[in-house]
Amino acid sequence: MTDVPSGKAFANPDPRLGAYAEKLLAPVDDVLSSALQRCRAASLPAIEVNPMDGRHLEVLVRATNARTVVEVGTLGGYSGICIARALPDDGRLFTCELNPRHAAVARENFRAAGVDAKVELLVGPAAETLGSLAEKGPFDLVFIDADKLGYPAYALWAQEHLRVGGTLVADNTFAWGLVLQEKIDIPDHALAAKAMRAFNEAIGRNPRFRTTLFPTGEGLLVAVKIH
Ligand code: SAH
Ligand code: MG
Repeated sequence: MTDVPSGKAFANPDPRLGAYAEKLLAPVDDVLSSALQRCRAASLPAIEVNPMDGRHLEVLVRATNARTVVEVGTLGGYSGICIARALPDDGRLFTCELNPRHAAVARENFRAAGVDAKVELLVGPAAETLGSLAEKGPFDLVFIDADKLGYPAYALWAQEHLRVGGTLVADNTFAWGLVLQEKIDIPDHALAAKAMRAFNEAIGRNPRFRTTLFPTGEGLLVAVKIH
């Protein structure tokens, strides 16, 4: 281990540069904008990925030539559209959602975006629906973005059901900064921090994965299964 300090920072803290990137790349096109409007009209929680993270997902799926993707946590389908539009016509996104009300909005959004033929929505607890997916694998890419307490179990599932060379992507791995906090008074937050640290260590220190963590607002973990 070298202790030569890096001359460069991990992340750029100037928020104006985020605005610059969004202006340059316009990650929310008309299709995504209508999807967001449907989410808001149905009063879904506004917890979909940040637009630039949606673009990160699209580019990652394209860059890896993924054909089969599993998403854990559909919500109204915003990230699902970003993924599905990057898939070839015979590609497949299997996306898992617990809440039928969220799933109904997502179904409508996938249809309006013209990606419904590539998307299979699995409604129920992911711990159960992932089990039913096993036989369709191994998969090219898994995106985890659901209940934080479930992350360690989803990591195990991904490790088993990604192909070697496949990619694991996970959102919210900073757990809103809780991963740093030693003393946490709110019990739910303490559990979320514990689960997220366990997840990050399970993948980040796993010899079967080569892992990086993009310093997005939420912490976007990206790992390749190398063994
Ligand atoms: N990926 C979405 C956001 C997902 S938000 C996007 O960026 O557009 C997290 C979602 O996970 C919520 O819709 C929530 O209902 C769902 N969820 C929570 N617990 C779950 C579970 N056990 N199984 C499957 N989905 C779950
Ligand atoms: Mg998220």
